[in-house]
Amino acid sequence: MASLQVENLRKEFDRGTIVAVDDVNLDVKDGEFVTVVGPSGCGKTTTLRMIAGLEKPTSGEIYLDGEDVTKKSARQRDIAMVFQNYALYPHKTVFQNMEFGLRMSTDLTKDERAEKVQWAAEMMGIEELLEQKPDELSGGQKQRVALGRAIVREPKLFLFDEPLSNLDAKLRTTMRAEIQRLQDELGITAVYVTHDQEEAMTMGDKIVILEDGELQQIGAPTHVYENPSNEFVGGFVGSPSMNFMDVVARASGNSLVLTDGEDFRYSLSREYADNIVVEDGQQVTLGIRPEDIYPAEPSEDGIQTRVDVLEPVGSDNYLYLEIRNGFIARVNADVKPDIGDPIEITFDESKIRLFDADTGVSLL
Ligand code: ATP
Repeated sequence: MASLQVENLRKEFDRGTIVAVDDVNLDVKDGEFVTVVGPSGCGKTTTLRMIAGLEKPTSGEIYLDGEDVTKKSARQRDIAMVFQNYALYPHKTVFQNMEFGLRMSTDLTKDERAEKVQWAAEMMGIEELLEQKPDELSGGQKQRVALGRAIVREPKLFLFDEPLSNLDAKLRTTMRAEIQRLQDELGITAVYVTHDQEEAMTMGDKIVILEDGELQQIGAPTHVYENPSNEFVGGFVGSPSMNFMDVVARASGNSLVLTDGEDFRYSLSREYADNIVVEDGQQVTLGIRPEDIYPAEPSEDGIQTRVDVLEPVGSDNYLYLEIRNGFIARVNADVKPDIGDPIEITFDESKIRLFDADTGVSLL
């Protein structure tokens, strides 16, 4: 496989009135699986299409294994792309669909091509489907064929554009595992676009978060989850979303106190507060994840609130708390406070994230 570098990639549409991708840099190592995620219109597909050679960048460069391919056509790049709508030729059999790319891009003999198709079909568990036509297949089978067609060419790089979006939830999980198996067995280098943050988190060695064409953060999924670089990333990654509250940070004796001007008050130890770049009296946004909120022990100084709604989700309960605009706590299923009754909650200070109230940038 190969490595991929994307440098200062930019794409404007409509004479510069739309900036779809704004100065994006990416470094994908050989054998690395990178997921790209962000809300609709953030520039995911445009980025992928530029890497594929299907869209010309306004500026910036793309390197494949160190070679500048920015001006090369899609065909010359040796990249395979897997789409949401499978993009299979309807009149060709599965075998012919898988063989077609080999015919176009290699000078292998008929027997050699057949051998490769057989190998890829076995990898994907679709040997029995080789003589069928795409319209005789289920969505999951079609996507297996599309994956088989991609791997048979043994390209330098795989690009995936929301490949599982048309499949039902159960099949999506199966196919996710299947793609991860392919990565393990073949060591493929891949850029995988999805709007599903859970998919991005579970599949990626690295996750890239885009918003409005700009790269917000890139890193290992757990690192990004625990250390979001800004409020947008904190809120986008994780489900249910991180809770946010506008507070004021005030130095008080040996600690830093966060208050909302009403009844919310949380003291951070000096030791912890020393890691935070914040001025006395500064407006900040506090972020706390639902699973990091829990009922306070009687000995602890908790935050007084009430439960508006209790939503059981199997192993956990979601508590909708009456704090400001509403907080969600994700607690064990055996924690079942009565609706409307007072409850004291708390969280570890190490789990608190603080963001600049104006820029959203993390202060930790
Ligand atoms: P989605 O998840 O909805 O597919 P996306 O993150 O893939 O979105 P893009 O399709 O890359 O986003 O689009 C990024 C921005 O560029 C959007 O504002 C979109 O409207 C705009 N855009 C994309 N292609 C074109 C085009 N050919 N002409 C004009 N604007 C375009």
